[in-house]
Amino acid sequence: MTIDWQKEVEARKDDLLKDLFDLLRINSERDDSKKTADAPFGPGPRDALLHMLGYGERDGFTVKNVDNYAGHIEYGEGDETLGIFGHMDVVPAGDGWDTDPYEPVLKDGKIFARGSSDDKGPSMAAYYALKIIKELELPLTKKIRFVVGSDEESGWGDMNYYFEHEEKPDFGFSPDAEFPIINGEKGNVTLKLHFSGDNSGEYTLNEFAAGLRENMVPGAAKAQVTVPSAEAAAELEKAFAEFTTANPVSGTVKADGNTVAIELVGKSAHGASPQAGINAGTFLALFLDQYAFAGGGKNFLHTAATYIHEDFYGEKSGVAHEDAKMGKLTMNAGLFAFAADQAESENYIALNFRYPKGVTADDLENELNNVVSKENASIVRGERNMAPHYVPENDPLVATLLQVYEDHTGEKGHEQIIGGGTYGRLLERGVAYGAMFPGYTDTMHQANEFMTLDDLLRAAAIYADAIYRLAK
Ligand code: ZN
Ligand code: ZN
Repeated sequence: MTIDWQKEVEARKDDLLKDLFDLLRINSERDDSKKTADAPFGPGPRDALLHMLGYGERDGFTVKNVDNYAGHIEYGEGDETLGIFGHMDVVPAGDGWDTDPYEPVLKDGKIFARGSSDDKGPSMAAYYALKIIKELELPLTKKIRFVVGSDEESGWGDMNYYFEHEEKPDFGFSPDAEFPIINGEKGNVTLKLHFSGDNSGEYTLNEFAAGLRENMVPGAAKAQVTVPSAEAAAELEKAFAEFTTANPVSGTVKADGNTVAIELVGKSAHGASPQAGINAGTFLALFLDQYAFAGGGKNFLHTAATYIHEDFYGEKSGVAHEDAKMGKLTMNAGLFAFAADQAESENYIALNFRYPKGVTADDLENELNNVVSKENASIVRGERNMAPHYVPENDPLVATLLQVYEDHTGEKGHEQIIGGGTYGRLLERGVAYGAMFPGYTDTMHQANEFMTLDDLLRAAAIYADAIYRLAK
């Protein structure tokens, strides 16, 4: 039997779009200040999870909610289970949007909304793929389980909990990256540099803050400093204007007597590709580092300006590594926090590393320590350390997915390894597959995130064919 997958998707286009738009309207940013026993990551991620599971119930699937952490939508029977992993949480919208990030807009063939490409759009494409297979009553020999997460962007607490209660599927994919396939992912660990809150110089760093998440390049940064005199304040204002002219940043500066408040704007990007962003935090540190700060404030600024600024591959900070298959280590300074006289545990720069095979988190910590100990920084490692992950090209899962991609696009499939950690790595035989196509503008984690309607529908057809071939 030949099935025209594209036609099957086209016939359900209006329903798919309506379901997707309703899902995108839910602001599902994690909010720990509002978490409760039944909303472990705050109400937004829970509501989006429940909404997605509701589609599964409506459409007659077997649905399970695992205590509002995660859930699944299941179809078919068999000894083996194919898992598909999507997530309903989103990173914070941030600034710079032309439209309301939580009121989706279809314009020029593009769907604009936070989550349109990461990961509600691709998840909806995969869900409709499963729906098509069910509605066509295609014979399958394996069970298919669409696992819906709600904490992918922060700590993966959803999947930790889910797998304490549910069995792991045997193999599978996550629609949360790009085609043709992601069959390898770098390791992922965060090291926080801590600094004492003292100041002893002519200039005082009262406050410094930048960034929303470890895995995002900070798009904005602000600081408040005390300077020796009103004249010094005026000079600093002038210097800042020159700095924003000479660098790819903008900002505002406001003096009030001896106190100056500065806000600097760069460009946010995904933390796995820090070179694609303009880190507002390190640029602001670079500007301030020319002044006579001392103590912990100075160490904080000097470390950011000297070792971290534009050190995307860890060369200045002593942690550069490269692997023939996985490429270079990348480093993103995603969070900056400093307040004068605050405890050392509260003053930090969070560095998120994506590291290739051949090096461990212990190695990175030691190497980094050799450099930053000179600045009196101490290192604390984040809770999560994910080792590099790789599924060989000749694994039937990878081979099948690449074949489906080739059949639908006419393009040659090939293996790819990225720095982003997707749910693909949850399974030993797990990969990421779509939904971005080659040549696509990557807007994940950025303002004006979008997914094109054509790509969404093309991806749904590819997913349907792929699920069928893997599970029949
Ligand atoms: Zn993401
Ligand atoms: Zn994602």
